[in-house]
Amino acid sequence: MKALVTGGAGFIGSWVVDYLVNEGFEVVVIDNLSTGKKENLNKKAGFYQLDIRDKKIADIFKNEKPDCVFHLAAQMDVRKSIINPVEDANVNILGSLNILNNCVANKVKKIIFSSSGGAIYGDNVEVPSSETEKEKPISPYGVAKLAVEKYLGFYKKVYGLDYASLRYANVYGPRQNSKGEAGVIAIFSDKILSGEKVKINGSGKQTRDFVYMKDVAKANVMALNLSGVFNVGTGKETEINQIFQKIKEIAGKGEKFHGSAIAGEQLRSCLDSSKLNKKGWKPDYSLELGLKETLEFFKNKNK
Ligand code: NAD
Repeated sequence: MKALVTGGAGFIGSWVVDYLVNEGFEVVVIDNLSTGKKENLNKKAGFYQLDIRDKKIADIFKNEKPDCVFHLAAQMDVRKSIINPVEDANVNILGSLNILNNCVANKVKKIIFSSSGGAIYGDNVEVPSSETEKEKPISPYGVAKLAVEKYLGFYKKVYGLDYASLRYANVYGPRQNSKGEAGVIAIFSDKILSGEKVKINGSGKQTRDFVYMKDVAKANVMALNLSGVFNVGTGKETEINQIFQKIKEIAGKGEKFHGSAIAGEQLRSCLDSSKLNKKGWKPDYSLELGLKETLEFFKNKNK
């Protein structure tokens, strides 16, 4: 079975590629390396450095004839999407449509889309949120993810393209960018290990649902046998203050200060994944185990 992975040089995408290769899939990656890194690429996977919006994507699909597509390539910075909604929509909507059109033209059997729970449900919802919650995205990034899900519904109905859309909670783990705006665990780990003080936005009582990237990679591969929309999270809410404390305990050091709260920042986010649990998926990693592996990665990276 041949899998094409967009964004396969990125944080989550590269773990999906590793998982697929281990399971015996033939894998090809498309990535423009805007945030992804060559060093993340699995040596057993083919690689095309190309933008998902490029017309040449058609040649890759024609030559490679993938059976299934994992679509992870995206502009994934929520704050950038607020500053420049047009560029966000360009990559996240038009780029995705280019991928969907090529799936149809080349009779791809299944597409697995990387969506976002936190960004799609928005604020003032039942927590943990299930897939039946009304979608209220509060950023252009969330609007674009929801739009692609709606397009997936359209492509399935009209062209018969089967899909699963995975709405992730906050994914963390090795290879996550620690220099960006998002990815609090990567940012805290890197800073604490290098002896820098960590800034917590506001009170630190904001909560998130942290799911380890290996569990997310497993969900992607399982989703080949699923159709529809599924949350991928642990159902456990953790305060940002607790995250700092846990990393400090594992690292044996760490200092923090509180900065001003970010206007409009979501206060609580946590996903109810019972729909996916019923299909046989459950996270293998506790937060403690995932944090230990993540810190180990950043320790070695900074050596
Ligand atoms: P990432 O930035 O590490 O990965 C995105 C990858 O896509 C990168 O390798 C980048 O180079 C590539 N890319 C970006 N624009 C491209 C383009 N126009 N053409 C080709 N390649 C392009 O981010 P990630 O955290 O691994 O996110 C992967 C997916 O998961 C994204 O779709 C993101 O929206 C989604 N997601 C992530 C989280 C999270 O917590 N990290 C949560 C919800 C959803």
